[in-house]
Amino acid sequence: MNKLTVKKNKSEIIYDSSVEDSKHISVKNKYDLFINGKWVKAKKYFKTINPSNEEVLSEVAFADKSDVNKAVSSAKNSFEKYWKKTKPTDRGKYLFRIARILQEKAREFSVIESLDGGKPIRESKSIDIPLAISHFFYYAGWADKLEYISRSSKPEPIGVAGQIIPWNFPLLMAAWKIAPAIACGNTVVIKSAETTPLTLYKLAEIIQEAEVPDGVVNIISGDGKTGSYIVDNPNINKIAFTGSTEVGKNIMKSIAGTDKKLTLELGGKAANIIFEDAPIDAAVEGIINGIYFNQGHVCCAGSRLLVQENIANLVIKKLKSRMNYLRVGNPLDKNTDIGAINSKSQLKKITELVESGIKEGANIYQPNCELPAKGYFFKPTFFSNVSQAHRIANEEIFGPVLSIITFRTPKEAIEKANNTCYGLSAGIWTSKGSKVFEVLKQLKAGVIWANTFNKFNPASPFGGFKESGFGREGGVHGLLPYLKN
Ligand code: NAD
Ligand code: MN
Repeated sequence: MNKLTVKKNKSEIIYDSSVEDSKHISVKNKYDLFINGKWVKAKKYFKTINPSNEEVLSEVAFADKSDVNKAVSSAKNSFEKYWKKTKPTDRGKYLFRIARILQEKAREFSVIESLDGGKPIRESKSIDIPLAISHFFYYAGWADKLEYISRSSKPEPIGVAGQIIPWNFPLLMAAWKIAPAIACGNTVVIKSAETTPLTLYKLAEIIQEAEVPDGVVNIISGDGKTGSYIVDNPNINKIAFTGSTEVGKNIMKSIAGTDKKLTLELGGKAANIIFEDAPIDAAVEGIINGIYFNQGHVCCAGSRLLVQENIANLVIKKLKSRMNYLRVGNPLDKNTDIGAINSKSQLKKITELVESGIKEGANIYQPNCELPAKGYFFKPTFFSNVSQAHRIANEEIFGPVLSIITFRTPKEAIEKANNTCYGLSAGIWTSKGSKVFEVLKQLKAGVIWANTFNKFNPASPFGGFKESGFGREGGVHGLLPYLKN
């Protein structure tokens, strides 16, 4: 049981660890590619590690060009032969099966997601996996109702979708992409990110168990080169990409002049705006959730805190004391709030940007917490006294680092919030409903939360403006990019 002890210094509360049991999970030593419903050997394999202790978890296939071609041919063949002819209610049936089997295995998936990517078990158990399940359920329900949202009474699928995802929410990103695509009658080739391939291959096992026809979902792993082979394959009809703005731009260039359809979900540098009339304690929780959720590896993270000048000192004081209670450590410990940074290279990127913040003259704050000796960890951090010109105010850090900027008037808040090349999300904290609407209509952001942050639901669309990309995933909007008409 969880024992709570309070040290001599009263502000320091120590919890005994309460580590999630990982004995029940099954991870193979080696995963081949999942193509045409079978496990297919590759020429090369690479290791995936647990970033919290650097131990190897498994080896996965590294798909080269000929493997990608095989996966795309399998998807095309399956599309032409059966999937586009499968009755919509049957497509829904397979999606319901996937959702239900995933639900039965939710605990195993949560543990594997935390092992492979470093996120706290509390989050994978209550957010990643349940949301992935609900996306499959949600889109299962749409499979036979597409004529109600399409311009045509006979909505048609596009064909083969190439889907490329990042490492921050592996299974959830896969669900966002696979579920609407196959609900609409498309087949897919999906590639996991380098550091987090495991839950996608576990999903492949579920797809087999659900007896989804061979080749409807093909799952592969590899690096950026593998991704580019998907993008360039002439039999791909649609690309759905989630990842960095830089790679998104490259993909746009490589498909220019083809009739491939494209949706891009890219980076962000969201403003979380706290007005003087906000419920301050709730806002402080919102700030914490906005930036420290998933170690800040969140495209829509509230990484720029815009706080009204007259309450800035109070907010910062409350934020500091709240941060002293954040527990950083073993992702499998149920008490952990902040787990491991996903990779060594991401840790390096965060460290460099934090150093630039110090050098450029912002004031750094980090609570007095101990980091584990092994693995990749970074203390929750904020910078105050940040100017708009600082790198930490402009570049996506993708780590647990907040930049605090003050403003005097709502007009100034809006200007500062929009002063970014991104436009994915934003948050508004005020006790006045009218102010919420007045401000949100002037913000250039795809998703805006009021008096909350980082809330997701399969029925609500998600996506960005400007360099955060285009196209929407989730909700009815998320089906349209997978339909011809
Ligand atoms: P990344 O762009 O480096 O990689 C993303 C995926 O693209 C990986 O699977 C990678 O192998 C693949 N890839 C790399 N180069 C490629 C190429 N030339 N052609 C095709 N595929 C290629 O991004 P990352 O560092 O893994 O992920 C973090 C980024 O993703 C952040 O910028 C973050 O904001 C963004 N992101 C956006 C959303 C969103 O919904 N908007 C969600 C999560 C992450
Ligand atoms: Mn890993």
